[in-house]
Amino acid sequence: MSIAGDCLPAPCLSGSCLCGGISYTYQGKLNEIAHCHCQQCRKAQGGAFATNAVIDETLFTLADPGGLLNRYRSCTDKVRAFCSACGSPIYSSRTSIPGTLRLRIGTLDNPIPQRASYHAFYQSKAEWFEANDAIKKFPGAKS
Ligand SMILES: [Zn+2]
Ligand SMILES: [Zn+2]
Repeated sequence: MSIAGDCLPAPCLSGSCLCGGISYTYQGKLNEIAHCHCQQCRKAQGGAFATNAVIDETLFTLADPGGLLNRYRSCTDKVRAFCSACGSPIYSSRTSIPGTLRLRIGTLDNPIPQRASYHAFYQSKAEWFEANDAIKKFPGAKS
């Protein structure tokens, strides 16, 4: 991951946490967007699901001048990075999948043309939530 720097040409997305202390740009394209309903994601977001897109870490640039980014290891393989001032989740990463991050795309500041592709861990969803859409619902991880 590179630190700071401005938006370069071509597809460039930008985002930030709720307090604005952390911001980022991404030079790649977003691939599939997933709603993850696993219990860890629900707790990490405080909502029905987390909405993620897998991104290329080398194209992701984080600006964190105040050193606010904190990391929580939610299981042996997984780290969740969030703003320690406002609590916004920014991304997660897996030790077993180096070079990629799962960006929490609710933090994006610009509109994107893509739409959500699927639900993951739908079997673990909150009992008070029903997804009334036509996209695929995987009971566990995408298969
Ligand atoms: Zn923040
Ligand atoms: Zn999850």
